[in-house]
Amino acid sequence: MNLNPVLVSSTACEPMRILIANRGEIARRVIRTASALGHDTVAVYADPDAWAPHVAEATCSYRIGPAQLAESYLSIERLLAAAAETAADAVHPGYGFLSENAPFAQAVLDTGLIWIGPSPQAITAMGSKIEARQLAKSAGVPVIPGFAESQSDDDLRTAAVEIGFPVLIKASAGGGGKGIRIARSDDEFSQALGEARQEGERSFANADMIVERYIERPRHVEVQVVGDTHGTVIDLGTRECSVQRRYQKLFEEAPAPNLPDTTHRSLRKSAVALADSIGYESTGTVEFIVDDDDPESFFFLEMNTRLQVEHPVTELVTGLDLVELQIRVAAGEPLGMAQDDIRLSGHAIEARINAENAADGFAPQIGTVTHLEVPPGCRWDSGIEVGSEISLHYDPMIAKLIVLSDDRAGAMQELADALDRLLIGGVVTNTGLHRWLLDRPEVVAGRVTTRLLDEISVSDNSSAAAEVAASAWWIDTGRSIGSPWHDLGTSGFTPHRHRRPLFLRDFTGEVHEVDSTSSNEPQGAFHVDVVNRRVVVNLSGQSHTFLVIPRSEHWAPHVGTGGGPANAVVAPFPGVVSDVLVESGRAVLGGDPVVVIEAMKMLHTLVTAGPGVVDEVRASPGDTVMTDQVLVTFVQEEAVERS
Ligand code: ADP
Ligand code: ADP
Ligand code: MG
Repeated sequence: MNLNPVLVSSTACEPMRILIANRGEIARRVIRTASALGHDTVAVYADPDAWAPHVAEATCSYRIGPAQLAESYLSIERLLAAAAETAADAVHPGYGFLSENAPFAQAVLDTGLIWIGPSPQAITAMGSKIEARQLAKSAGVPVIPGFAESQSDDDLRTAAVEIGFPVLIKASAGGGGKGIRIARSDDEFSQALGEARQEGERSFANADMIVERYIERPRHVEVQVVGDTHGTVIDLGTRECSVQRRYQKLFEEAPAPNLPDTTHRSLRKSAVALADSIGYESTGTVEFIVDDDDPESFFFLEMNTRLQVEHPVTELVTGLDLVELQIRVAAGEPLGMAQDDIRLSGHAIEARINAENAADGFAPQIGTVTHLEVPPGCRWDSGIEVGSEISLHYDPMIAKLIVLSDDRAGAMQELADALDRLLIGGVVTNTGLHRWLLDRPEVVAGRVTTRLLDEISVSDNSSAAAEVAASAWWIDTGRSIGSPWHDLGTSGFTPHRHRRPLFLRDFTGEVHEVDSTSSNEPQGAFHVDVVNRRVVVNLSGQSHTFLVIPRSEHWAPHVGTGGGPANAVVAPFPGVVSDVLVESGRAVLGGDPVVVIEAMKMLHTLVTAGPGVVDEVRASPGDTVMTDQVLVTFVQEEAVERS
């Protein structure tokens, strides 16, 4: 099977110098195709990325600024300066960052450069969910029953009552799952609206909201479209993206399984009708909700006017290179294919590999990649290599693992095998979650709704994994000459029973003490890094990273999502304080939210571990905080009463 898209033609349009206004996996993906077509590429980078793979792979590179996004990858001014100074002919925005930013697209065009994306008009029209809804209606595409005709709180509330609860309140300018709240009853409405408005204002500088019927069992199905400047718009089939966490996709497949033929056809027709109605001239995605309780009915959700993270699954089943199509149509070439030329074959699945801890509320993780083993036979689109720093500045998505097979069952099996053999050392990732998901009956059956991860809790088998990790450590250090554990009195291998207990700290901060008699021989893949004292094991597909700690350190403070009742709530990872919800003197119960931290583009609410009274608040919104930094301290209630 060919896992890489095939170029439609190996002769490039006029060779260009293309600046890629992005980083990581995204920039590498664009560079790959642009180079294959014979174009020069310009990588831009912020300081933490100076040694990143995308910089090394481009024809030339340009420093755009410090780590802060606003002063680097999101700075239109800096990007335009980079384009001017490197004599670029064209700009590819990648996905994320400024890819759906109409002023950026316009600025690029105004400078006389080629913009490898849809027109600024199309971006603007679809960037507002309110306007997009209107366009969809006009194109005859069904929209979710909802209301956005007025922005007064009272009108939105009246509309919610008419639509019937539960309703979803969504930021019109939203993206990446931000600014979305459910209101299950009239009582919840005001608070949910307030929160959504606040998040919309903070993230998108726009507090306009849509109130929609909340579909209880939604499936997220989307259609890839592509258009050119000669009036052709076609679709490249469907993708299922229902496995999500916090409204963000984790796992995508093409084509969408278990859809009635009629729905499948109507979805594709609707997507093309909408794209056609706005004269769409690039790659784009029309997202829909299919009601699992009634799979004949589907509704328009939004249109993303860019290439999407999950585009590889479409590339694998169509054999087309979507970046090539983008570049060619941006250069004014006709698509050169009609709807009837599109053949879909096989089934492809993508797993988004994020540096995050699924067993701890998807908390983002940072670290240095100490080890990387990617199994052969799958497509690996990544932004990392051994030595890469995963920092808090950027998106937690570090790679994508994509497989193709003749049918869905085959693809599921291939992905499972690949995940079992994939080893990423030094940073906790969600590969274990993916492997575990592949065994869930709903996923096996292809009957997933976007609620899946709300409904099931992620099991934690870290104690068993610690035993396996200890064995791996003993085996490895027993063999390797020069390791601190090497016992010269034996022939390179010391039976486990002679070992002292080993202390292993897992990613939540919990310390596991493993007795040499209780440890299990490792069955799956493992990696031991003696220098950095890290052990990575894959246990039944879940990957765990442990730090081997000296005996004297095994009392290390607990790092979790909240502190003890009498002491403090500390930052479990580095980030920026986005909200402080308590003030000195406030009485709290266990589980009360106290501080919200933003890290890697997600909001994380830190809660109290038990009852107490807030003593000192040591953080304010906007503060950058480091791991273990004390944010709020508490005194116990008795102590307060006595004083
Ligand atoms: P999708 O997942 O449907 O492709 P998203 O809206 O989640 O679309 O965004 C696409 C990519 O861009 C993802 O990697 C996402 O994390 C990233 N992204 C989204 N919003 C931003 C932003 N404001 N800044 C930087 N990256 C972003
Ligand atoms: P974003 O711009 O963040 O991608 P979307 O409008 O695409 O926002 O919605 C993101 C996700 O939220 C969807 O994939 C789906 O899981 C959920 N969602 C959106 N609208 C609804 C709805 N009316 N009912 C149920 N779930 C919804
Ligand atoms: Mg969306």
